[in-house]
Amino acid sequence: MKQMVICQRCQSDDKEIPMIGTMAFSGAEFWCPYCGNATGMFGEIAEVDYTKALEDVYDTYRAHAKRYLSAKGDLSCCAKMINGKRVDRKDFPSEIVEQAESIAAEGWICGRSVKELKNIDPI
Ligand SMILES: [Zn+2]
Repeated sequence: MKQMVICQRCQSDDKEIPMIGTMAFSGAEFWCPYCGNATGMFGEIAEVDYTKALEDVYDTYRAHAKRYLSAKGDLSCCAKMINGKRVDRKDFPSEIVEQAESIAAEGWICGRSVKELKNIDPI
């Protein structure tokens, strides 16, 4: 059966929060949009059976965190494609770096429930 990765920290607090797979945090492959837990595949994660309801929760968190995770990724990556060309992080245009720093500095508001997010349009 298909499995989903959830946050073990939140699970111990009786919350089932799907982890988002991301390379936006150094040394971590998974990030919890509820408590901010950034961890690796041998870290504080748990696997549970897939459900459509859990996938909906994942999709909602992912849509709302997309801008934040993209900014964090821009600041921690070694390179990315810009206008069809591979550009090293040290050569990123200053406006991209400044925008990413600004978005990352806003931070992500942890502890928001999906119910709360569903009333807010993703940016
Ligand atoms: Zn968590």
